[in-house]
Amino acid sequence: MSKHIIEGCPSCSSIGELANKGEGKKDYGLSHWPIQIKLMGTVIPFLDNANADLLVAGDCTAFTVQNFHERFLKDRKLMIGCPKLDNAQLYLEKFTEIFSNIPIRKVTCLRMEVPCCSGMTAVLKEAIKLSGKDIPLDETIIGVKGDVLGERTL
Ligand code: SF4
Repeated sequence: MSKHIIEGCPSCSSIGELANKGEGKKDYGLSHWPIQIKLMGTVIPFLDNANADLLVAGDCTAFTVQNFHERFLKDRKLMIGCPKLDNAQLYLEKFTEIFSNIPIRKVTCLRMEVPCCSGMTAVLKEAIKLSGKDIPLDETIIGVKGDVLGERTL
């Protein structure tokens, strides 16, 4: 399968396994690069053959909730973005293609309580529907004070 990372930004270079995993290292660290949704193509090396448990997080979440890595990142592949500042339609098209073509075991949306962030859940829900795949989708909502306000399966 061809690698299709959008060219033009040095940060787009794909790294499959980062050095923060391994003997003596914490096992909940970031496992790959890049992580920004906008920087990824629709063929994503770190998702190939991974049957991944995918965490899609709003940009603000990691800076708001405590212990983001320990609580949410363990054994998951991460994609982050902002459905308000980025183009949500492009997110929808990208995730629809990803879900249509790459086996994904489960998607968890981690978003802020503020209304602008609910768009991430809506995009993922619609993309799964459009893909025709039966991918479980969970949502965790983070309050602006850093508390987990709710978790649900959609
Ligand atoms: S949608 Fe709003 S809360 Fe969510 S990542 Fe963007 S700015 Fe932050």
